[in-house]
Amino acid sequence: MHSLNKESKINGSVRKEDFANRLSSILGPDGVISSDDELIAYDSDALTGYRIKPVFVVMPRSTAEVSRVMKLCYENDVPYVPRGAGTGLSGGALPVEEGIVISLSRMNRILEVDIPNERVVVEPGVVNLSVTKAVSGYGYYYAPDPSSQIVCTIGGNVAENSGGVHCLKYGVTTNHVLGVEVVLPDGEIVEAGGKAPDMPGYDITGLLVGSEGLLGIVTKITLRIVKKPETVKTLFATFDRVEDAGASVSGITARGVIPAGMEIMDNLCIRSVEEAMSVGYPVDAGSILLVELDGPRAEVEAQMPIVEEVLKENKAQEIKVAKNEKERELFWKGRKSAFPAMGRISSDYYVQDGVIPRSRLAEVLGNINKLSEKYGLRVANVFHAGDGNLHPLVLYDSSREGDSEKAHELAGEILKVCVDSGGSITGEHGVGEDKKKFLSYMFGESDLDTMNLVRCSFDSKGLCNPGKVFPTPRTCVEPGIKPYRENPLQKAGIGEMY
Ligand SMILES: Cc1cc2nc3c(=O)[nH]c(=O)nc-3n(C[C@H](O)[C@H](O)[C@H](O)COP(=O)(O)OP(=O)(O)OC[C@H]3O[C@@H](n4cnc5c(N)ncnc54)[C@H](O)[C@@H]3O)c2cc1C
Repeated sequence: MHSLNKESKINGSVRKEDFANRLSSILGPDGVISSDDELIAYDSDALTGYRIKPVFVVMPRSTAEVSRVMKLCYENDVPYVPRGAGTGLSGGALPVEEGIVISLSRMNRILEVDIPNERVVVEPGVVNLSVTKAVSGYGYYYAPDPSSQIVCTIGGNVAENSGGVHCLKYGVTTNHVLGVEVVLPDGEIVEAGGKAPDMPGYDITGLLVGSEGLLGIVTKITLRIVKKPETVKTLFATFDRVEDAGASVSGITARGVIPAGMEIMDNLCIRSVEEAMSVGYPVDAGSILLVELDGPRAEVEAQMPIVEEVLKENKAQEIKVAKNEKERELFWKGRKSAFPAMGRISSDYYVQDGVIPRSRLAEVLGNINKLSEKYGLRVANVFHAGDGNLHPLVLYDSSREGDSEKAHELAGEILKVCVDSGGSITGEHGVGEDKKKFLSYMFGESDLDTMNLVRCSFDSKGLCNPGKVFPTPRTCVEPGIKPYRENPLQKAGIGEMY
């Protein structure tokens, strides 16, 4: 079914049919999606509580095509949203009213594998795990490993500065991106950084990583790859109390051991994962701590007894070391399936993402429990414990009146607990649409104005992923720069910004 009303205009400025024709002349007819039944697939990211149908979705195949599309949008004041695989959990790739989606999924080529210099150059639509697959034969891998790595794209990882279970020792996306090619909102193509480890001038690459698609569209990325470690040893320990698992995490780092990853799951999480995946986690354990050590064999062998000693000091019940690579993969498979596995114990769940100082883990978990009791909703906890990056999963039933609102309220209170404990409202999922109302809980007006100055210098018309991240509509103050676009709901007096 075709949705095009020929006479209607996009954003009050250009006839839809004319705009579609001009997009097709750039991308070919198969590069523009305009039918309702296909557009539905793009109306949200993985945070499906927010949905907006875009006017069109376009699928460029090259930087030149991205540039021409963005120039066309710039000339016609049409807003747009970049999109990778749509696995984001903060509504970052949620379309905007009267705007188009620019999907980078067809720009999925690995452009260069440079083993001697330990670099890989990719297009933004390359799937995270494909980078490791391309270099593993040479004994290398790409370290940032979000649990969604079998589908999420490097472009999305760059925009969100994604983390993963192995980022404790090796760092998150920003530590592995050395350069980017970006198309600015007026269509200009710019290079920042490159293969060399340090570039003169402002760190524009660093600015773009984590900018959530608000400053332009990244079309090429130079990544650092790392050598596979000589040895990897993975264990899990069970505890009666999740607080003891948390104390073990601080204890291990206090003894000078930095594991590749340390992940905690509580009992609700263990049960759902086990029901969904049968990976061998004991379902009656209060919590599980997964620890992975890697590096030279001698180092790992020296560190293992220290880790086991700390675990026992903190009342670990069972300590199980993976006997082989197959068992190790199984341990991680359970952890990496934790979000989707929630479907086994709850019809709906909301993934929260906050950060706290590691030392406050036990106290914050206690506060989350109290909030769970106050709202009468279960909260399952799974987290990158080494980084203090919590992922409380608030379980609810959307068919029960008021449950969904209660879940969001509870999740919001959890974020405030994180900030009050000296942490942050996001560890890796970004602010996007979902958390913008909490940004002013962390930052003052002048902090936000400074961030907005950066944004305005890239996107004076406010066309690139507008309405996201910033809590209130902010204007660009330079002469000749148009005000930041107001949210249509707010303009109509039926919605409000926090
Ligand atoms: C089951 C599950 C597990 C997850 N686990 C993790 C985890 O362990 N760690 C973690 O960090 N995240 C995790 N996530 C969240 C998500 O996978 C990441 O945020 C990921 O980086 C998003 O990539 P994507 O390709 O799906 O991007 P999208 O969701 O399509 O987009 C994300 C943001 O990037 C912008 N964007 C996309 N491409 C570009 C580009 N080329 N240029 C500029 N902006 C762009 C979009 O506008 C949007 O704002 C998980 C999600 C799910 C569903």
